[in-house]
Amino acid sequence: MRTAALIVAAGRGRRLGAETPKQYQPLGRSTVLAHAVRAFLDHRATDLVQIVIHPQDRDLYAASLSGPPDLRLLPPVAGGVTRSASVLAGLEALAPQAPDRVLIHDAARPFLPAEVVSAVLAALDEAPAAFPVLPVADALWRAQDGLATEPVPRDGLWRAQTPQGFRFPEILAAHRSHAGDAADDVAVARAAGFAVRLVPGAEANDKITDAADLARARRSLEPPMDIRTGNGFDVHAFCPGASVTLCGVEVPHDRGLLGHSDADVGIHALTDAIFGALGEGDIGRWFPPSDPRWKGAASAIFLGKAMERARLAGFAVTHLDCTLVCETPKIGPHAPAMRASLAAITALDPERISVKATTSERLGFTGRGEGIAALATATLVRP
Ligand code: MG
Repeated sequence: MRTAALIVAAGRGRRLGAETPKQYQPLGRSTVLAHAVRAFLDHRATDLVQIVIHPQDRDLYAASLSGPPDLRLLPPVAGGVTRSASVLAGLEALAPQAPDRVLIHDAARPFLPAEVVSAVLAALDEAPAAFPVLPVADALWRAQDGLATEPVPRDGLWRAQTPQGFRFPEILAAHRSHAGDAADDVAVARAAGFAVRLVPGAEANDKITDAADLARARRSLEPPMDIRTGNGFDVHAFCPGASVTLCGVEVPHDRGLLGHSDADVGIHALTDAIFGALGEGDIGRWFPPSDPRWKGAASAIFLGKAMERARLAGFAVTHLDCTLVCETPKIGPHAPAMRASLAAITALDPERISVKATTSERLGFTGRGEGIAALATATLVRP
């Protein structure tokens, strides 16, 4: 069984209100048309794909389907004045290939599920024609001059989708003898007297008609929001001195902190938390202690770098939380200044920054007053 797909892309799509016809509008990394073509090329039953285009759209077509060549994709043919004329032009172009079955599809339905194609093809084993449909969910009303006149019973009514599938010789003969335009190819088949079977369609297969439909289709391809959490941990030992620098604030103390830079243990933990969320290593990789440039450096540089990396990756840092662990100095009185200092370095609202402190109940190296430890958590969001 040779199966051909015939994609009708000759329309002007005026309802979209754009200069470029809707089938050539960008969608994800390609176009609406390219998505429709891909749906068929990705289906194992497809042997041939014929596209019917408007004669003025050759450049748009070439730009739209610029991917690697696929031998199943035939050169496009020019359509006619009406949709029916365009379909006939496509069928005539396919005739020398003598396919057994043809699936006629609207280019403006980019998200055609494989199951719908399979259902139409399966039905063609039983009937000369088949098409996907959806039930009518809303009440239907007839109206005149903006006023409702009478309800229309929904019983037996269906919303038609494409691809509409046919045994090829039958639909070619039907189109050749059909005069004038038709709503779709099922109408042509019915006029020729064929039995046409209904199969389940899919909401995803809805047609792009206006700008809102196109915007919805684009949104459906956007990656989901990326929310990440990173943690950081750092320790610095006390050494002789008269103050320690914590979260960018100089706190008077009877000792200093030992380190290559200014030994700001809080900022180091926060910097590592951001790098952790980004999966970009740690502070030592970006600022090696072996590099003399960072001797005595203000750690604000490190935190600024991590913030910049987050920005470059498209992330907003939405929250920073730092816990300092020491017996002395007392952190509480300095915590507001530390938040303000971190807010200045990161350009974040102070509401999004937390600085807390705890002792370790005189246990371990912090409890013995040998140094200060810091833990940090960073939350990053890419919309
Ligand atoms: Mg450190």
